[in-house]
Amino acid sequence: MEKEKLLEILGQAKAIIQDSHIVYTSGKHGSAYVNKDAIYPHTTLTSDLTLAMAKLFSEKQIDVVVAPVIGGVILSQWIAFHLTQLSGKEVLGVYAEKSEQAPGFELKRGYGKLVEGKNVLVVEDILNTGGSIKKVVEMLQPLNTNIVGVAAICNRGNVKAEDLGVSELKSLLDVQLDAWSEQDCPLCKNDVPINVEVGKGALYLAAKQK
Ligand SMILES: [Zn+2]
Repeated sequence: MEKEKLLEILGQAKAIIQDSHIVYTSGKHGSAYVNKDAIYPHTTLTSDLTLAMAKLFSEKQIDVVVAPVIGGVILSQWIAFHLTQLSGKEVLGVYAEKSEQAPGFELKRGYGKLVEGKNVLVVEDILNTGGSIKKVVEMLQPLNTNIVGVAAICNRGNVKAEDLGVSELKSLLDVQLDAWSEQDCPLCKNDVPINVEVGKGALYLAAKQK
């Protein structure tokens, strides 16, 4: 999928907000925001995006797609479906759930048996630091799997394959979001209104009024 087309459909779903004034979880300010939760209610858009992700690895003989909960449940199902359609053989979609045990994720419900000895693709919507995906990779390693790679909708943290412990990382979109401290924020200096719909903007304004 071409980047312009991708940005257009993500924009239509309000999954990418640009030219705004956002307060991030980190407390920093910036002009853009990637809202993955806005994607999934639009099932045709989700299908289009996951087909594009499936195509990134369609030559790799994937047997099972694995993703971390919660958004990953949707992603792994769709990508496994599209890989099945593309390859003509059944590709399974499973998900990893949070666990008290290291590395922090586990395959419950008998899904651990489904990945043994298989070619596995790990998928994620937005890579920020890649922390969750790294844990899923660490969870899979002792299970005698061949981790073929990682696919993401958007890599916004400049995450590299080696950061995740895999040989290949592909994303539909790589974005670098500028972020400034409040003191250095050019949007604050120009009195651009804070976006209170997404991120921590509403909390930020509430705290300011105290
Ligand atoms: Zn600001």
